[in-house]
Amino acid sequence: MTPLLEAESLVKRFPVRHPLTRRVTGHLTAVDGVSLTVRRGETLGLVGESGCGKSSTARLITRLAEPTGGTIRFDGRDITTMGEAALRPVRRDLQMIFQDPFSSLNPRMTIEAILSAPFRYQGLKPEPGQIAELLRRVGLRPEHAERLPHQFSGGQAQRIGIARALALHPKLVVCDEPVSALDVSVQAQILNLLRDLQEEFELSYVFIAHDLGAVRQVCGRIAVMYLGTIVEIADRDELFARPAHPYTAALLAAVPIPDPRIERARPRVVLSGDLPSPANPPSGCPFRTRCPRAAERCALERPALAEGAPGHRVACHFPLDTSLSREGAP
Ligand code: SF4
Ligand code: MG
Repeated sequence: MTPLLEAESLVKRFPVRHPLTRRVTGHLTAVDGVSLTVRRGETLGLVGESGCGKSSTARLITRLAEPTGGTIRFDGRDITTMGEAALRPVRRDLQMIFQDPFSSLNPRMTIEAILSAPFRYQGLKPEPGQIAELLRRVGLRPEHAERLPHQFSGGQAQRIGIARALALHPKLVVCDEPVSALDVSVQAQILNLLRDLQEEFELSYVFIAHDLGAVRQVCGRIAVMYLGTIVEIADRDELFARPAHPYTAALLAAVPIPDPRIERARPRVVLSGDLPSPANPPSGCPFRTRCPRAAERCALERPALAEGAPGHRVACHFPLDTSLSREGAP
């Protein structure tokens, strides 16, 4: 079966302007050649430090922004440069949940109006009782429909964001750090809700987070981003057991793992230095200014995302010796 979403070599470049003269002085490449696929029914994790281009990638694949380069196919159609009129039917199937639930809900609109908006946008009207049912489905009550967003807690507001995204039964929902603005005690409830809804509605998710711990429970495959590019992508268990990119290993070092055998064998990589500016990226490998394994070649040649083991791709000239952490290793 063809994947639900295929993004190929996506680029998003913004002009950088002088603060006073507003003259364009350079360019900032927020997304720098991202290729990924989302299979039907799967949850693909997208992980990296803030500023690495995750949200920009999310805005491209949901076509809230238009890419500077590359292509996006969704459910068999090329949506790369579609205008808003052509995108309208596509948006039924392609929805997004945002990090800050309050800033994504209009403070002057009742919940009823907020949840009716996706219907109106499609020239439809919710059936009687449909809004109440949506609210119930995300763990809220029908009488909540008359309230305004500020009358809800963060977790409840995110449930409203989820209800809005699901109103028209989409195929793909891109969740941009859907729990990172919430209290820890509420995070698990929202994750459980997302998982239940996935099963019920046969949804595919792209799940964005800034650390690997957060995607561990929900994602089948994980892509790691650094400075606008994907540096490693693999099945979750493979990535956790055998990280090949030094950056993935550094992110993993921060995640506690219950299996002591993996713990012992896991390569130790500690990050040094700061995240470089995407307006002035390093030559060659984007990670080289912070990489303990960097060699001359890394400054000269940008590593391509290449397949090592089946389904496990890494962009590094000197990937970690993953045989170290294979089963049966000391
Ligand atoms: Fe480090 Fe070189 Fe690999 Fe980049 S290509 S991650 S600098 S070893
Ligand atoms: Mg973000």
